[in-house]
Amino acid sequence: MIYLDNNATTKVHPEVFLAMEPYLRDEYGNPSTGYDLGKRSNDAIKNARTQVAEFLNAKEEEIVFTSCGTESDNAAIYSALNADPKKRHIITTSVEHSAVILFAKSMMPNIEITELSVNGDGVIDLNELEGLIREDTALVTIMWANNETGICQPIQEAAKITKERNTLFHTDAVNAAGKINIDSNECPIDFLSISGHKFHAPKGIGALFVRSGSPFSPFLIGGGQENGKRAGTEAVAQIVGMGKATALAKKRLLSNGTEKLAGLRDRLEKNIFEKIEGVHHNGCTKRRLPNTSHLSFENVDAGDLLILTNEKGLCIASGSACSTGKREPSRIMKAMGYSNERALSSVRLSISSMNTEKEIDKASEIIISSVEKIRSLKPKDGGPVIFAS
Ligand code: PLP
Repeated sequence: MIYLDNNATTKVHPEVFLAMEPYLRDEYGNPSTGYDLGKRSNDAIKNARTQVAEFLNAKEEEIVFTSCGTESDNAAIYSALNADPKKRHIITTSVEHSAVILFAKSMMPNIEITELSVNGDGVIDLNELEGLIREDTALVTIMWANNETGICQPIQEAAKITKERNTLFHTDAVNAAGKINIDSNECPIDFLSISGHKFHAPKGIGALFVRSGSPFSPFLIGGGQENGKRAGTEAVAQIVGMGKATALAKKRLLSNGTEKLAGLRDRLEKNIFEKIEGVHHNGCTKRRLPNTSHLSFENVDAGDLLILTNEKGLCIASGSACSTGKREPSRIMKAMGYSNERALSSVRLSISSMNTEKEIDKASEIIISSVEKIRSLKPKDGGPVIFAS
């Protein structure tokens, strides 16, 4: 099997697994207890918090462990809305993950939401943002990188504009973390979300950076864990895994990890573009994550392509959502102004540092032969070939 769907989730790194193992076996103490078994769990959490803080260039007390990226996003929005009851307006973007947009919408009609549009490159307009911030804006929340297209937003500039207007700023960095350097001190953000399973930690662990002095309201109230910011006995093994994964990611980023990912992605694209016609990049190629390639193939239904590549052991993603048997074009592609046809012929290829050049070459061959097969069988009416799944 070749796995090129690393924006969906990643394989747990063997060193992460080894770091977690003791806490799933003999080191089962509750970190809140006073005897040595519990103290060792507590020390393990402290160590993981230091690792995550170093990864984000933050202070230990600015890190709150959560259960996932979704919880981190929800908690940031909830905290901003609780900070000042007079501020009931949120600015976000039309390409945000549903963990942001649907949570914000769940607060309606008590709040107002303004969605910043994106251009054909998938990028927001900073002037539009500047014009939209109001006296009653509680929060501006803009994702660092889009999970589907990999397009990165101008977060530093957006955060600066927002803070100049005395407004809170959150960024969903769930799909950016581990792929590019994230430095909480380079931009004046209040909240930043990450999720372990996107960079080789297990699923079920996330973190929220909350800048010292920024407001925070806990969702979970009880035992006072996480300095009162999130009650509930800590998931020690997951937290240890998250810490180790951030330490490994930091090491990779310091040794040209971003360039290495981009090298694999460029190799994949070169192989494909050299061999087949009618392939297009979606969005701009300059402002994107180094690991993500979002391509559309003329006269190819992405659903057909997924079926054929899956049969050959290659895991890739189409941006479309499948509802009641009918595939809907991706809302991200629609927000960028693409046609339904273009959206439905698009796939996302997302690489990780665990992929090899050999895998990239094999994956290219599988994609090329599958595209050629679909095109050769394409019905005259232009509809999908529909291979039995
Ligand atoms: N935000 C982005 C950009 C994501 O890609 C994802 C996951 O796909 C999430 C939030 C939600 O993260 P989690 O799956 O950890 O809840």
